[in-house]
Amino acid sequence: MAIEAGTRRDQLVERYRARTRRSGELFERAMAALPGGSTRTTVFAPPYPPYVEAGSAARVRDVDGNEYLDLLNNYTSLILGHAHPAVTAAVERQLRRGSAFAAPTETEIALAEEIRSRLPSVELLRFTNSGTEATMLALRAARAATGRDLVARFERSYHGTHDQVSGDRRGIPAAVGALILDLPWNDPDGIERTLAGREAETAAIIVEPIQGAGGLRPAEPAFLRFLREYTAAQGILLVFDEIISFRVAPGGVQGRFGIRPDVTTLGKIIGGGHPLAAFGGSAEVMDRFDARRPDALPHGGTFNGHPIAAAAGLATLRELTPAAYAHLAALGSRLAQGVRARAAAAGLDDRLAVTQDASLFEVSLGDVDANRDLFLGLLIEGFWVAPRGMGAISTPMTESDVDAVADAAVRVAASILERTV
Ligand code: PLP
Repeated sequence: MAIEAGTRRDQLVERYRARTRRSGELFERAMAALPGGSTRTTVFAPPYPPYVEAGSAARVRDVDGNEYLDLLNNYTSLILGHAHPAVTAAVERQLRRGSAFAAPTETEIALAEEIRSRLPSVELLRFTNSGTEATMLALRAARAATGRDLVARFERSYHGTHDQVSGDRRGIPAAVGALILDLPWNDPDGIERTLAGREAETAAIIVEPIQGAGGLRPAEPAFLRFLREYTAAQGILLVFDEIISFRVAPGGVQGRFGIRPDVTTLGKIIGGGHPLAAFGGSAEVMDRFDARRPDALPHGGTFNGHPIAAAAGLATLRELTPAAYAHLAALGSRLAQGVRARAAAAGLDDRLAVTQDASLFEVSLGDVDANRDLFLGLLIEGFWVAPRGMGAISTPMTESDVDAVADAAVRVAASILERTV
């Protein structure tokens, strides 16, 4: 007899609670100090997340001593896994010299040079502390450069939490919302229709070349080329938000397809596990931040170009050789093919979907509740993905790691759907 979905979920939650008692206690304690026990919406999942004690290479250990293959890697930001020796050494070196100064350092120049060498579209760049700040300033730069007010983004996009890009409009004045246009994905005609008559008021179109938070969705190369031609013809700046997608190739998606956006935002891997992000682009746009100019756009930031984060980011990018990218992409496609083959063999291919691009992947049972069950079931088996099923492979992972993920994903999906494998 089929078990009710609610009962099955209760059983999963009970099994989870039983192996994460100390995390449960910490969560109880956290609730007195942090709203809902949490300081980051995206790491909360009911009943409570595991609290992490330590991470090393591809694995993390929680406070109850459970070990997980970390497929989330702080939401794609740790491409070398945890505590990579080269990154740790760079951080320790800088830490001993002091952590932050009201002065520039040579390390920030070296990181900027490394980024420029990978992204020909980025002639000049500025560092920020988060991706949210990077997209906020990229849009400000675009408005300043064009003298136009509207910005356009895509349905299901995610560019951080500031007022211009937040999907949830509560707490944001309607007047701000009136300056944002929502565009359909992979749909050139829809874009022309939405912007018809407003082209000359539009400063920027911001796009994730691979959508992440809205469900892993790579843009068609032809669509990105259309965006490049259309924006150039309309005097609109094209902003590539490569905060996630920079990890797929040495030059991100723009390098892969040979497309030159006007402005690029970066984050995640360029801080090597520390808070650091960037926005950059043509000298014409970025020169406006030149502090020697009497009309310079202001851009302060107590921790911009933070020496420890910059040292960690530089050490990380230097480890990312062509062989490292090839290894990541091979594991990504092995994982996706492994899930597809096992799902087909188990008769689950109608329910368990997988999308993948290089080291990024997402497994999905098609609805939020089932995906939460999949997430919890995988945690219990020792595999950590995002609550919506997204994951990112890191360089210390092996073929047997990703085969184990594929096995577990299908096994857990089958038990959720009550099918036998
Ligand atoms: N843009 C994209 C594409 C992202 O995925 C994210 C974060 O996940 C952001 C911007 C915001 O970055 P941060 O969380 O560092 O503010």
